[in-house]
Amino acid sequence: MKKKLLLHICCAPDASWIPEKLEQNYEVTCFFYNPNIYPEEEHEKRADEMRRLAETKGYRLAVPPFEPEKFDRRTATLRHQPEKAGRCSICYRIRLEKTAAYAKENGFDLFATVLTVSPHKRVERVNRIGKAVAEKYGVEYLPSDFKKDDGFKKSVEESKKYKLYRQDYCGCESSLRYRKMFKDAETQAFVPLVPGKKVGIYDVQSFRRWLKRKGLKTGFLFFETQPTAAVFKEAYEESIFLEPVKNLEWRKKIFTKKDRKIKEIPLHSVSNRDIFSDPF
Ligand code: SF4
Repeated sequence: MKKKLLLHICCAPDASWIPEKLEQNYEVTCFFYNPNIYPEEEHEKRADEMRRLAETKGYRLAVPPFEPEKFDRRTATLRHQPEKAGRCSICYRIRLEKTAAYAKENGFDLFATVLTVSPHKRVERVNRIGKAVAEKYGVEYLPSDFKKDDGFKKSVEESKKYKLYRQDYCGCESSLRYRKMFKDAETQAFVPLVPGKKVGIYDVQSFRRWLKRKGLKTGFLFFETQPTAAVFKEAYEESIFLEPVKNLEWRKKIFTKKDRKIKEIPLHSVSNRDIFSDPF
């Protein structure tokens, strides 16, 4: 007899081929639980698309109630952080904890997640959290890396075949905001990339003024030393990307690949520290 597997699903495109692949060895039930999605209409849209896919492909599916307050409560102080930062670990954890708890209560032997098919997710981090959650709830976790062997490409192809709705942002309110900012960056005359050792509120404020003078909507500040939460908040509110300097080369590649004009500018030329006092 096959073992019963509960498979956490984040969206229909990422579930387009994985359940049937796992079905070869397990009895699979899909579990759509994503309290991170903002706004609620978007959650309903993604859940409905998953219901449609399940019906078309004959997947077993459970959709527990939407609980955005659970995500909001645990990430309230992290909403200004960039994508792939600490907020995302908590986001994975909230979703995997619910999956493990449901698996335990409903007699499943193990659980897994399709999150690892996305090139935007850190596989090791997802699997590490999956294992920790498994220990806590006493249910086995099946580690995965579904993007291997062209897994992501397969999900794109299947999504096209079944005309699945594919969202253009990860899910939470912050990711929606960053997506809009990124689109702004793509349509500007040029994208300013500004590396600096230590970035403070004064740099964010004067960079905002500099952007305004140049008629630009957004730009990128890169730091070597982790700024305070207040600086992240300031950058978020001013629609400025604030990222670790290790992202600099990656960002350059992205914009070059998209044929966007970029300019690497020294921090001192966009920031006038003399006219602001650093309150931190
Ligand atoms: S960016 Fe994506 S993974 Fe990270 S917190 Fe937001 S929804 Fe979750």
